Amino acid sequence: MSIGYAQKLSDKKDVGTLGMPELFDPPYNLQQKVEQLAVIIQKSKYLVVFTGAGTSTSCGVPDFRGPKGIWTLQRQGKGVPEASLPFDRAMPSLTHMALVELEKAGILKFVISQNVDGLHLKSGIPREKLAELHGNSFREVCPSCGMEYLRDFEVETIGLKNTPRRCVEEKCKARLRDTVLDCEDELPGKEMNLAEQQCEMADMILCLGTSLQITPACDIPLRALRNGGKVVIVNLQQTPKDKDASLVIHGLVDEVISGVMSYLYLRIPPFVRVDVFQIVFTRCTRLSDKRFMKWRLRVASIHGQNAPLPFVRSVEVSFPGRPELKVATLSKQPFLLKRETVAKRSCCIMLKLNLSDGCACSYTSIDFPVDFQGSLNLSTLRNVQHIYQVERT
Ligand SMILES: [Zn+2]
Repeated sequence: MSIGYAQKLSDKKDVGTLGMPELFDPPYNLQQKVEQLAVIIQKSKYLVVFTGAGTSTSCGVPDFRGPKGIWTLQRQGKGVPEASLPFDRAMPSLTHMALVELEKAGILKFVISQNVDGLHLKSGIPREKLAELHGNSFREVCPSCGMEYLRDFEVETIGLKNTPRRCVEEKCKARLRDTVLDCEDELPGKEMNLAEQQCEMADMILCLGTSLQITPACDIPLRALRNGGKVVIVNLQQTPKDKDASLVIHGLVDEVISGVMSYLYLRIPPFVRVDVFQIVFTRCTRLSDKRFMKWRLRVASIHGQNAPLPFVRSVEVSFPGRPELKVATLSKQPFLLKRETVAKRSCCIMLKLNLSDGCACSYTSIDFPVDFQGSLNLSTLRNVQHIYQVERT
């Protein structure tokens, strides 16, 4: 979906700098500039960061204008580059995690992102300190009451269309909409106003991995200049705003930011992802023969009946202590097992969830005790936690 979105945009937007060569400052020069940037950050009182596709390229999310970017390859008739990972498994980069630490340290006050990959929120930047100008593939919003829903799967539509789900607020129940802008859509007023306000308050705007070409988003950082703020640009290509910047660094964003973090004696924390799911056991119809019972076991998303579980590949179900019950492997979503068994004594169902590629561990095992004679349905919330050390790629 992310690439389809880019394709649509490419038909409309200015494509002036496509495939422009990537520039790298020579190592000695780069080191000096990194130190200069660290000092500016240290002295800043209100740092705002403005991010673009270059912040996420090390996460496997393709950029737009680089030599292998989506728009460049399209222009050359080479089609669309393969994303190395689906959005839902892309992990925050070293830069995303460094920004989380800078925010916790009270240095970074606000993040403005042009990316729809949702990685700033996943990494741990608080929602109220983030403006996502082009939306977020994982967020739905209720047009009626304004409630936001952050999903662990990509929302099915783009262009602010209705999604298959409804608001869960008791008196609302309106159809939800996706938040990813289509090429004709105006920037969302709320996010835009917030971003502009923040840039006017900032004494420093750090632009990371953006060619500063998509209007009107690219003009927002310059608002800092009005009140005497500084703009610093870290990007591999020249940008039309370079002339307004106090410092321009041509280097990989991850490399520059990790240099800054070591200069400031700040650590880059690991990324911790917690995947939540539910196990639901339901007794179904009563049979005429009381010795038997029908039941269903479901491993499901917490986001609604039909929502996918992107981090689960398959579920193996076994019944230790009940050798007469057949082991089952559920390899397709929804992960649902229907059985009719002898209704005798309780037993422990053993579930092995095989996790998708890109998860930190390959499976998780769960014991789920059920009482085949009890009349209650059971459900439980479980989670699996993945800890990733972010490394330079
Ligand atoms: Zn609502």
